[in-house]
Amino acid sequence: MDLEEAKAEFEKYPFYDITEKECQERIDKLDFVCGGCGKKPTPIETVNNNDEPTFWAGCNECGVFGNGVPLMVWKTANAMYDKGERSTWYDYNADKPNHLRNISDKVWSVVRVYEEVSKNNN
Ligand SMILES: [Zn+2]
Repeated sequence: MDLEEAKAEFEKYPFYDITEKECQERIDKLDFVCGGCGKKPTPIETVNNNDEPTFWAGCNECGVFGNGVPLMVWKTANAMYDKGERSTWYDYNADKPNHLRNISDKVWSVVRVYEEVSKNNN
């Protein structure tokens, strides 16, 4: 899946009110990795606003919900981290996955907006 397809897929699905099977299918289709540790997200049982059970994608390793990011985005965040990039949300020496999760989110935002701007610029 290239980044354009991943972006379309990412925006197609809601993040809530789904069964474990639907959640797993979306995880498999997106084929993203956790922005923090780089592992594949899994369905995590939780409840929606009506207190009904539902499943959200998330990372048990990092203890966070989220769809994750494309592998290339995580790799880019890692390369930035190695060059000294840090999230302003954490102390400079905080655990690497915490920094990576934030840097990954930022990179993923940039990639999606860059794509939109590029399209509108043609
Ligand atoms: Zn993780």
